[in-house]
Amino acid sequence: MSRVYNFSAGPSMLPESVLKKAADEMLDYQGSGQSVMEMSHRSKVYDDIIKGCEKLFREVLNIPDNYKVLFLQGGASLQFAMIPLNIMTKNKKADFVVTGQWAKKAAAEAKKFGEVNIVASSEDKTYSYIPKLDKSTFSKDADYFHICMNNTIYGTHYSVDQLPDTGDVPLVADVSSCILSEPMDISKFGILFAGAQKNMAPAGLTVVIIREDLINETDASVPTMLSYKIHADNDSLYNTPPAYTIYMFKLVLEWLKNDIGGIEKMHELNVKKAKILYDFLDNSKMFKATVEPNSRSLMNVPFVTGNDELDKKFIKESTEAGFVNLKGHRSVGGMRASIYNAMPIEGVKKLVEFMAKFEAENK
Ligand SMILES: *Cc1c(COP(=O)(O)O)cnc(C)c1O
Repeated sequence: MSRVYNFSAGPSMLPESVLKKAADEMLDYQGSGQSVMEMSHRSKVYDDIIKGCEKLFREVLNIPDNYKVLFLQGGASLQFAMIPLNIMTKNKKADFVVTGQWAKKAAAEAKKFGEVNIVASSEDKTYSYIPKLDKSTFSKDADYFHICMNNTIYGTHYSVDQLPDTGDVPLVADVSSCILSEPMDISKFGILFAGAQKNMAPAGLTVVIIREDLINETDASVPTMLSYKIHADNDSLYNTPPAYTIYMFKLVLEWLKNDIGGIEKMHELNVKKAKILYDFLDNSKMFKATVEPNSRSLMNVPFVTGNDELDKKFIKESTEAGFVNLKGHRSVGGMRASIYNAMPIEGVKKLVEFMAKFEAENK
């Protein structure tokens, strides 16, 4: 068996030990005589999995007691509608910072339900930076303020001091591609949401962390399945949850806690991994990082040579060498290395060695 280094933006790598454990437990989960795939989601054995997963998630990410954790479906993309449906209800108004495609899509979706105010955008420079925010442009009566904390396509990320101070307006953050990569002060946010397929689990699960006071009865016209209250009141078991993906998420959390040593350790490792790549890019004569230094993501690292033919040659040769999915998003071109939690440090070291060799051979 030979496994590649997979730099995909999502779905992405999972820790090898997690895949092995899942394989070991595939036919008989802990003496139950069944696969987790086959279990009733109402059984005692499954209840221990879903409850255990939530408990571990709360512990690892340090989620305060006045926040609910919801295990939903529909991807991060469904949250673009679910959030306004549930909380854009008082003044029917929301503020957005547009830092890329995902924030743009979220704003467009919210527009179906109310007034959208674009506070700032970095579209002028292909979303290569996090814009400076001016508090005087925020709507005081907004129902929420939306940001995309890590911009998967463009490789930008809000540092703690770049986060907007929205006062009493709930801050809503799309953390699909950075959740569990660093410690976070959850209490700064009203809602955090993420699709699982980047840093948590296989696709199929969407995790929502929501402050309890934001969970309200929805308007009668809102479909039952789109109400946070329904899912919260039923502990994410109103209907069948993505049962196997939740089990995989639990295994990933166990790995993060026990093998890595927790979220601080995970963050240290991510900083170390990203530094190897950025240092190389900043010193290379051929490759260049596309993002301004103070806005750089630890998870997604876009880079270019400035020459489309050379980019193509690099993607072809790196793929053949076992570094796969390095092609950049179609809207940026060039390359992008997604180095999520599960990417081992050796993967980044070996990629940089390969890039140095490529640079020397193609001078
Ligand atoms: C991948 C991604 C999405 C879309 O997630 P889906 O689960 O495919 O809907 C949204 N936002 C960000 C930041 C992402 O990285």
